Amino acid sequence: MEKAFPLKGLSKFSREAWNSVWTQLTLGAACLTLLSSCQGMLGEIEKEESLDKPLVLTTFTVLADMASNVAGERLVVKSITKHGAEIHGYQPTPTDLVNASKADLILENGFGLELWAKKFTASAGNVPTAVMSDGMKPILIEGDLYAGKPNPHAWMSPQRAMQYVDRMVEAFIKLDPSGEIIFQENARIYKSRLAKLDKELRDSLSLIPLSKRVLVTCEGAFSYLAEDYGMEEAYLWPVNAESQVTPKRMRKLIEVIQARKIPAIFCESTVSSKAQIQVAKASGAKFGGVFYVDSLSDINGPASTLLDLQRHNVRLIKSALLSNGEES
Ligand SMILES: [Zn+2]
Repeated sequence: MEKAFPLKGLSKFSREAWNSVWTQLTLGAACLTLLSSCQGMLGEIEKEESLDKPLVLTTFTVLADMASNVAGERLVVKSITKHGAEIHGYQPTPTDLVNASKADLILENGFGLELWAKKFTASAGNVPTAVMSDGMKPILIEGDLYAGKPNPHAWMSPQRAMQYVDRMVEAFIKLDPSGEIIFQENARIYKSRLAKLDKELRDSLSLIPLSKRVLVTCEGAFSYLAEDYGMEEAYLWPVNAESQVTPKRMRKLIEVIQARKIPAIFCESTVSSKAQIQVAKASGAKFGGVFYVDSLSDINGPASTLLDLQRHNVRLIKSALLSNGEES
């Protein structure tokens, strides 16, 4: 389905951002303009913890949740960035490097999500890395500064999340061959939960009339979900690595909201909602709440697992986009 907010291309920024991120690899380096870019510090992993079991580090919490489901008790799984962290332009800390040097495997998303990962893993001693999006056909970003680049948020499609699980099983068997049967059985159980989630989200979102299925967010992170469930999307910026709010971007989004009479718009937990609340006020839409996408919530929050994250977001979408008692 056609996106409601076309954007245009950028490659120079990625290199500059990369260099900038890396040169600031010290504690106390200034955070980027994003809300939580300094929240990812994982405390130093205790030696005892990783002595008898292989240590798997993931670049963000969503991957850690998925990997824990596949690994079961056989592997120690930790995320480098913490829940709530902004992950695209994350600035690794010296402690992260120490932890990574102890790791037996690093799982990363790929598709350009982690601007910092390649240099980081190399600096940690070239720890083996498995890329979860390998072999997957990406949805490309349309328009604006990232046009033509893969949208990295493939885990937001339960069906594609199942492909991540397959990549994890392959990587874990390579790491720990005698755990093969356990990894495969864990993966089978987890994939059946993802399949159930897929049906649940499809049933839930199908209650919203097609004309009302327009998802307005801060980051364009919902392309995979939108494609799976027949939604259109519009957003303030394509990827959080470049989240500058310009008057032009705001104006274009307000025009889309007003033209399509979109009743509610949203923002994500890892960035500031301030600009989107302004857009809501200017367009007459309601601010419908905060989604989780790039980072899980803490254990007491509404999105401490990928399954809960999806259910939380879809609950918000349903209650905000269905009106006049149409919600079941
Ligand atoms: Zn993102």
